[in-house]
Amino acid sequence: MIQVIGTEHNLGGGLIVRRILPNRRKRMVGPFTFLDHMGPVTAAPNQNTDVRPHPHIGLSTLTYLFDGKMFHRDSIGSEQLIVPGEVNWMTAGKGISHSERTPSSLKNMSRNLHGLQFWVALPDGKEEIDPHFEHYKQDEIPIVEDDEKRINLVCGEAFGVKSPVRTTSPLIFADVVAKRNHMIKLFSPKFEFAVYMITGDAEVDGEKLSSQSMFAFDQGSSTRLNIKEGSKFVIIGGEPFQTSRHIWWNLVSSSREKIEEAKQSWKDGTFPMVPGETEFIPLPE
Ligand code: MN
Repeated sequence: MIQVIGTEHNLGGGLIVRRILPNRRKRMVGPFTFLDHMGPVTAAPNQNTDVRPHPHIGLSTLTYLFDGKMFHRDSIGSEQLIVPGEVNWMTAGKGISHSERTPSSLKNMSRNLHGLQFWVALPDGKEEIDPHFEHYKQDEIPIVEDDEKRINLVCGEAFGVKSPVRTTSPLIFADVVAKRNHMIKLFSPKFEFAVYMITGDAEVDGEKLSSQSMFAFDQGSSTRLNIKEGSKFVIIGGEPFQTSRHIWWNLVSSSREKIEEAKQSWKDGTFPMVPGETEFIPLPE
């Protein structure tokens, strides 16, 4: 078991994120290669938390909000407002660019933002697929509820239910609220799991998991997670890849060459751009 404590990053405009993955102690959890915990923040009316268009390859972005709203636009023409409990799943494949902005209805207003963004690396053989975008409404996401807990099973199959979210490799993502002290068992022979605590705390084998930190467990291990009443946390897991992934800026690939090609293409303006947008984030030097 590895404990990961996120590092704080200021993305500008008052948007503070904690970067949980990748971490020097843990590069990936199954196919999950990146996790940012955004906020919770309250942005002032004059703060600009917009993320301007930027490119991705070799991954899917999974955006999931607890509070606030974001407006997504991408280079294949998708335009989608996302609100808490809904799922934006954008697959970059061979290349997509997107922006994530404050919806116009909330511009120049004080507004909250709290959520998670994951990057899910594409498996071997699927890294170069065509880009696509999918959105799922809150009522499509299965809920498992009893007197101990309430689970939104955002992705995968677990706790007796199956999410309709189409993933590119076997994985799960569950959003859990503990109504009272209880225990959850995690085991799947092929999966690596991790638990990220949003608020509250839990304990595994006598070790405490505090809020805003993650426990990552070895593939195939059996874990008993003792959770404190009132805690809010997420469980992620999936089958680890046999090949490693390079990550440079927003680009993920098993091939360094593909990353160099994408860098060059973003720099010389031949990368697919977001229709209707003129701003973009320049390639870091
Ligand atoms: Mn992005």
